[in-house]
Amino acid sequence: MSKVFVVDTNSQPLDPVHPARARILLHGGKASVFRMYPFTIILKTEVLEPEVQPLRIKLDPGSRTTGIALVNDTSGEVVFAAELDHRGQTVKASLDDRRAVRRSRRQRKTRYRKARWQNRTRAKGWFPPSLESRLANVLTWVNRLSRYAPISAISMELVRFDMQLMENPEVSGVEYQQGSLAGYEIREYVLEKWQRACAYCEAKDVPLQIEHIHPRAKGGTNRVSNLCLACEKCNTAKGTQDIAVFLKKKPEVLKKIQAQAKKPLKDAAAVNSTRWKLFERLKATGLPVECGSGGLTKYNRTTRNLPKTHWLDAANVGTSAPVVLITKGIKPLKIKATGHGRRKMCVTDAYGFPKHHKERKSSYMGYRTGDMVKAITPKGTYWGRIAIRHRPSFRLGKTDVHPKYMRRLHRADGYEYTYETKGVRDAPPHG
Ligand SMILES: [Zn+2]
Repeated sequence: MSKVFVVDTNSQPLDPVHPARARILLHGGKASVFRMYPFTIILKTEVLEPEVQPLRIKLDPGSRTTGIALVNDTSGEVVFAAELDHRGQTVKASLDDRRAVRRSRRQRKTRYRKARWQNRTRAKGWFPPSLESRLANVLTWVNRLSRYAPISAISMELVRFDMQLMENPEVSGVEYQQGSLAGYEIREYVLEKWQRACAYCEAKDVPLQIEHIHPRAKGGTNRVSNLCLACEKCNTAKGTQDIAVFLKKKPEVLKKIQAQAKKPLKDAAAVNSTRWKLFERLKATGLPVECGSGGLTKYNRTTRNLPKTHWLDAANVGTSAPVVLITKGIKPLKIKATGHGRRKMCVTDAYGFPKHHKERKSSYMGYRTGDMVKAITPKGTYWGRIAIRHRPSFRLGKTDVHPKYMRRLHRADGYEYTYETKGVRDAPPHG
């Protein structure tokens, strides 16, 4: 069960409690709601010498979604889980959009100026804005959760596979063994080396199997240099044939595979720059940061018999992952980065021509775009994020709702929140 965060009278985090306990505290007037997302209550009376159990925040950073889990290392309990959707592509699209508008304006309005492409520099440590936004999202949530829960350590997945464990896998004789930890690391290594595609037909986004270039049945080894990837069709078609026989009619593919098999993967491929940067910034928070590999995460998750989701991957990051993870009843909070709106006053159409102008005021009847509300209307009850209009009819999901039916649950803070179970959006469990 996802727990409810509790803070004391000085807003310092205490142990999270079961929702039933939170309900008793709220109904008994001993606490009040501090914040809706993530649901946090504040106690009304002082707690003397509170004892708190430290929690570990675990992250599985992804390009679209980052999994977040708060785990109690001693009891193995997952206390809270979330999945954070990043903006990435939206950031790039709106910057491209802005660039096009400015360029077109210069063409129309400015007299000729010499091109000045050479006098622009990028600050040291510059990072593309779309990636910077992802980093900022993760750091925001690490900081936020540290305010409501007693977090004392961080774990993150830094690399896809652990080079240290494999120690130059192409030369040293590490062998692939299905199911073992080294096997999982090698699997990730091979996936990266062959770019997650079938070596024979170049199929992507299909289930891939580890393939022995020189077949096992004919004395081929389990060593990394003898492994490649194949889709099921190609793998069955090849069977125990020799690669030269199988690719008799495709000499160029044969040549490519043989060359690729000999080429060891560079160390740099193990770490991507965004994750590395995130690691550096997490270290700057002062909390101890533990790093894990993708192979280890997968091994942990598989041996604990858990399905693949972003938050469960996060809970399984690192060697600190408890032997038994208690995940029953956890509903991950879906957090979607939406940004804080635009400053552009002129709304343009797809060709950059002005359509209409915006109002200067960004609120109407006390509401702002991005507020999370609950609306009880004659037609039904709705929860969600609103987009305001400058008349009493706001957009809420797919319907228009009059603000008189609304109650604000959470002020706009750049994120949209939902609880999703089996693809159905529903009300927050603490309604
Ligand atoms: Zn194939």
